Amino acid sequence: MHVIELADVVKRYQSGEETIEALKGVDFHADRGEMVTIIGPSGSGKSTMLNMIGLLDTPTEGSVKLEGRDVTNFTEDELTEERRNGIGFVFQDFHLLPMLTAVENVELPSMWDTGVDRHDRAIDLLERVGLGERLEHTPRQLSGGQQQRVAIARALVNEPDIVLADEPTGNLDQDTGRTILDELTRLKEEENIAIVSVTHDEQLVEYSDRVVNLVDGVIQE
Ligand code: ADP
Ligand code: ADP
Repeated sequence: MHVIELADVVKRYQSGEETIEALKGVDFHADRGEMVTIIGPSGSGKSTMLNMIGLLDTPTEGSVKLEGRDVTNFTEDELTEERRNGIGFVFQDFHLLPMLTAVENVELPSMWDTGVDRHDRAIDLLERVGLGERLEHTPRQLSGGQQQRVAIARALVNEPDIVLADEPTGNLDQDTGRTILDELTRLKEEENIAIVSVTHDEQLVEYSDRVVNLVDGVIQE
């Protein structure tokens, strides 16, 4: 069973008079323990596809399955629930809250989303990404690479099935990018999760188990 599966997904946007077909019948899946990377030119539908995989938006046609369950016709509230429990997000610009410490940033989704305080797991994850000595630092006191490691710990705190990474190395130099990819690869194995990323970074492509090339809303073989 795939962790996530899109079957024949079409996504259309209405923009005034014009209809834009951003995805034109996309099949996609990811399994536990693999990193799948979506590449493609700007405007090819990568963000739209990531939004489908992240249950942030619903397809116009086709179906989405999470852990074998068809979630295509779930309500907004049901999708939010699935997202909170099943999906972690990592962004190019880290998206950490500046007033909170590293450990507070990591704990936050667990308290907000599930009402369970995973303080011990937050500390454990920060130790595992090498930030055990920086639990009380705020983002401003951390380097870019360290901030991204906090963000990765945060993405994992609710024990998701999938982590979605949108240009995770986009704001980092090449060496720092490599350490982040090493961390992601190791955590992917340890936590037995699927990682789905979108990138222009050749280095990230090297680390991927599978690459999906999207052109004009169609996956190229
Ligand atoms: P990429 O991430 O590869 O740059 P996107 O998924 O952002 O591609 O966009 C694919 C196409 O869908 C583009 O033509 C874009 O302009 C259009 N699009 C994306 N989001 C919207 C939206 N909310 N409303 C209208 N058109 C959109
Ligand atoms: P972009 O890649 O276009 O610069 P972002 O990196 O800000 O955009 O966001 C990538 C995607 O993640 C967007 O489609 C957005 O809907 C979604 N997103 C943004 N913030 C959150 C959040 N806090 N939780 C879940 N999804 C988010």
